[in-house]
Amino acid sequence: MLKTNNIREDLGLFNQIVDIFLQDEIAHPVSQNIKPEDLPKKLDLSLPESPTLDEDFKISLKKLILSTPKSSSRLFFNQLFGGRHSKGVLGDLLAVMLNNSMATYKIAGPQVAVEKEIIKKVCEKIGYSKNAGGTFPTGGSMSNFMSMIIARDKKNNQIKDKGFKDNFTAYTSKISHYSVAKNASFCGLGKENVRYIPTNDLGQMDVKILENQINEDLNNGLIPFYINATSGTTVLCAFDNIDEISKLAKKYDLWLHVDGAFGGSVLFSDKYKHLIKGVENSDSFCFNAHKTLGVPLSTSILVVKNSDKLQQTFSNKASYLYQTHDDEYNLGYSSFECGRRNNALKLWVLWKSVGSIGLEQMIDHEFALAQYARDYVKNNGNYKLYSAHDSMSVCFNYKNYDPQDLCKKLYEYNKLMVGYGNFKNISFVRLVTINSQNSNKEIDSFFKILEQFCEEHDDKIKKIN
Ligand SMILES: *Cc1c(COP(=O)(O)O)cnc(C)c1O
Repeated sequence: MLKTNNIREDLGLFNQIVDIFLQDEIAHPVSQNIKPEDLPKKLDLSLPESPTLDEDFKISLKKLILSTPKSSSRLFFNQLFGGRHSKGVLGDLLAVMLNNSMATYKIAGPQVAVEKEIIKKVCEKIGYSKNAGGTFPTGGSMSNFMSMIIARDKKNNQIKDKGFKDNFTAYTSKISHYSVAKNASFCGLGKENVRYIPTNDLGQMDVKILENQINEDLNNGLIPFYINATSGTTVLCAFDNIDEISKLAKKYDLWLHVDGAFGGSVLFSDKYKHLIKGVENSDSFCFNAHKTLGVPLSTSILVVKNSDKLQQTFSNKASYLYQTHDDEYNLGYSSFECGRRNNALKLWVLWKSVGSIGLEQMIDHEFALAQYARDYVKNNGNYKLYSAHDSMSVCFNYKNYDPQDLCKKLYEYNKLMVGYGNFKNISFVRLVTINSQNSNKEIDSFFKILEQFCEEHDDKIKKIN
C-alpha cells in the first residue's frame, strides 16, 4: 500500500516539530555535538526497505532535527550566517510550496518580476545605470565564478568556443575568499595564473603592488583580465579600496568584480556605504543576503553593470525550454543553472515587509554589536584585539590560550559555536556579529561563557607563547 502523501497533515507535523525546535533553541542554544563515528549509535538514519511506522517516523525526525547544530541560536557565532529573520523564513517556505523554476516566465510568472525588482533596486543603490542586470546564483562562490567567466569572455569572446590560447592572469588579495582559486581552475584559467596581492595591516589589497604586478605580467606577454576586490574579507571583514582599484582596472582595461559576499550589504546603510565607495565604477558586484540579513541559505545576488555581458556569456539556445516570452523575462538566459530555485522571494518578502530602512537598521545594528564587542576586548587587559574599527568581525585572543584549541574545546563541550582565523601568521578567535537578532546581552554572555570555560578547563586548553 502507498504511504499517505498529505500536505496538510505533514504541515501540521512540521508545525509540531518546529514548535519543539524553537523551544529547544532557547533551552539548549548549542546542540550536543555528536562525533561522526557515534552517529549510528545516537540516531537511526538507516533507510529501510519497508515503510516506517508513523510513530517511529515522527520520533526519528524530531531526534534528527534536535541533534543538528543550531545555526540560529544566540550562541552561534561560527559562520558568516546566523540567526533568522522570520520574514525571510516565511518567504522561503512559500517558495518551497510554489516550487517554480526561475528559468522561464512561463513557469515562474510574477516571480520573475520579484527577482528583477530586487536586482533593479540593488543596482540603483550601488549606482549602476539602467543597462545593468543580474541574477541569483547559488552563493557567493558561484557569483564570483560567474563574474570571472564574464570577464574572460569580455577580454576574448573566442575562448568559450576554442578554449584559452593565451596566458591570462587574474588578481586578488592574499586574504580573499578561496573560491577565487577554485574558480580559476573551473574556468580553465588555472590556479597558478591568479596573483595574490599582499595587503596592508588593515587587510586591504596593496594597490601599488597590484599595479606593479600587472605591469610585470604585461611585460612578460601575459594578458591581465580580471581583478577581484573584496568588500568584507572572510576573516577580518576588511574592505579593499574599490575607488583606487577601479582606476587601475580602467587604466589597464581589466574587469573589476567586487566580492561583497560578506560585507557588500553595507549598500543599505548610509553610515557604512562609504566602505564600498567607488563600487559604481566596478563591472560586477555580489553580496550574500543570507550572511548579514538573516534570510535562509542561500541568497546571493550578482549584479553586472552591462547586462548584455551577462547574457552573452550565459545564454544558450534551448528550444525545449524557451517557448514563450521575450528573452528579458526568461531568466534562464542569464543564469548558470537550468532548473533554478527561487531564491529571490525570501529576500523580497523581508524587504517588502521592513523596507530598505529596516535592512539599513539591521546592518547598522550589526556594526554596533561589533563595536560593543571591540570595546569589551579593548577595555579588558586579558584580551588582545586584531580587528579594525569598521568591521563586523572581531578578532581577538584571550590570555595565552591557543585560539584553535579553545574554539575546538568550546564546541566539544557544547558551550559555544565560534571559529578562529589567521592573518599575517597570527591566529585568533573570530567573533562575527552578523545576527541582527542579538543584542549587547548576547555579546556579554559570549565573553562570559568563554572566560568561565577557560577558568574551569585551564589545564586542558593548549597555550601559546
Ligand atoms: C562567504 C564568502 C564567499 C562565499 O559565499 P558562499 O555563498 O558561501 O559560496 C565569497 N566571498 C567572501 C568574501 C565570503 O565571505
